[in-house]
Amino acid sequence: MSKLVERHGWVPESDLDGVSLDTLAIRAGHHRTLELEHSEPLFPTSSFVYGTAAQAAARFAGDEPGNIYSRFTNPTVAAFEERIAALEGGERAVATASGMAAILATCMALLKSGDHVVCSRSVFGTTNVVFGRYMEKFGVRTTFVDLTDQAQWEQAVMPDTRMLFLETPSNPLCEVADIQVIAEIAHRQGALLVVDNCFCTPILQRPLDFGADVVVHSGTKYIDGQGRCVGGVVVGSNTVMQEVFGFLRSAGPTLSPFNAWVFLKGLETLPLRMRAHSEQSLTLARWLSEQPAIETVFHAGLETHPQHALAKRQQKGFGGMLSFKVRGGREEAWKLIDGTRIVSITANLGDVKTTITHPATTTHGRLSPEDKARAGITENLVRVSVGLEDIEDLKADLARGLAAI
Ligand SMILES: *Cc1c(COP(=O)(O)O)cnc(C)c1O
Repeated sequence: MSKLVERHGWVPESDLDGVSLDTLAIRAGHHRTLELEHSEPLFPTSSFVYGTAAQAAARFAGDEPGNIYSRFTNPTVAAFEERIAALEGGERAVATASGMAAILATCMALLKSGDHVVCSRSVFGTTNVVFGRYMEKFGVRTTFVDLTDQAQWEQAVMPDTRMLFLETPSNPLCEVADIQVIAEIAHRQGALLVVDNCFCTPILQRPLDFGADVVVHSGTKYIDGQGRCVGGVVVGSNTVMQEVFGFLRSAGPTLSPFNAWVFLKGLETLPLRMRAHSEQSLTLARWLSEQPAIETVFHAGLETHPQHALAKRQQKGFGGMLSFKVRGGREEAWKLIDGTRIVSITANLGDVKTTITHPATTTHGRLSPEDKARAGITENLVRVSVGLEDIEDLKADLARGLAAI
């Protein structure tokens, strides 16, 4: 047994020095227990026990490392955190109960009353609500700017700006922001840049490499990849993450061990899936561009996309999301959606199953008409999260939708 432990137990992280993201996605973060399990173990336990009262005291005092309670730490959650930190190239990751909890924890840990935030207008709808309604309530002001307009970012930054927040590529129009340029704007003011990297995942884009300070994720999307669990994660330096961890262990929106375990399994196929999603979506974007009933296709892989060159430089693939405008309005868009027979009509994304959404009446339905117009969310816009079904079947299904208009 001891020989086996020596040979196989507690694989030190240094064994993975210099390996590629594909290997990290499969190997990072798994510290084997004495059972020498091959697959990552699941620890569905709320608390942990001690050999003696003195050991309990030492754990609570922080004199001895180890688990205490699963709101603080849990080995399965820790394995997921270590793996995603390795993939993003960050010092430390802290997992959260949802993508929104990741964003909330980042704000609660890093902002205080009187601080100012600059946020891209085209972020996930609920992110807008967190900044615009809840942070505002506690004295944190937010200025919203156009994602791709550098001058607006520069002008919005004030002496009390502490955070810049963006999501690239954007949802649903696939606009791309230059992370390096916006990180420089943030740092000139002593502010932090937070990037929601949900659409690309570290496989296609690593914001920390371009100077971002914090990365947030909804694990619910591509990290899981099969639509099973809700969860999130924050990645950054040890200093920043100590604050985020402090908030989470006190306030409580931590990730459940089961969801962490599902995400660990999801990460193992993430490189493969992201490459396949990118290839499928580009093929579909090109095909859609040729359809007479379609006015415009939004996909950063198309040469006609305004930030095509930037996306090529900043990303290792264009991802699985695309959107398009049909000729007509809501009626035509709905007819197309209802005419499909394979793709799922749902707002979720990042799944191996292709999903189709009408943003104006679902994900962006609560925006005012002015905000919709400013965000480019027209009634004829349709969003597709391109999954991994046979591409010819997807084309045939969308052709069926187009024929129904
Ligand atoms: C879904 C999503 C979120 C929120 O994540 P949840 O896990 O649903 O809380 C945040 N950002 C982006 C870009 C998303 O797509």
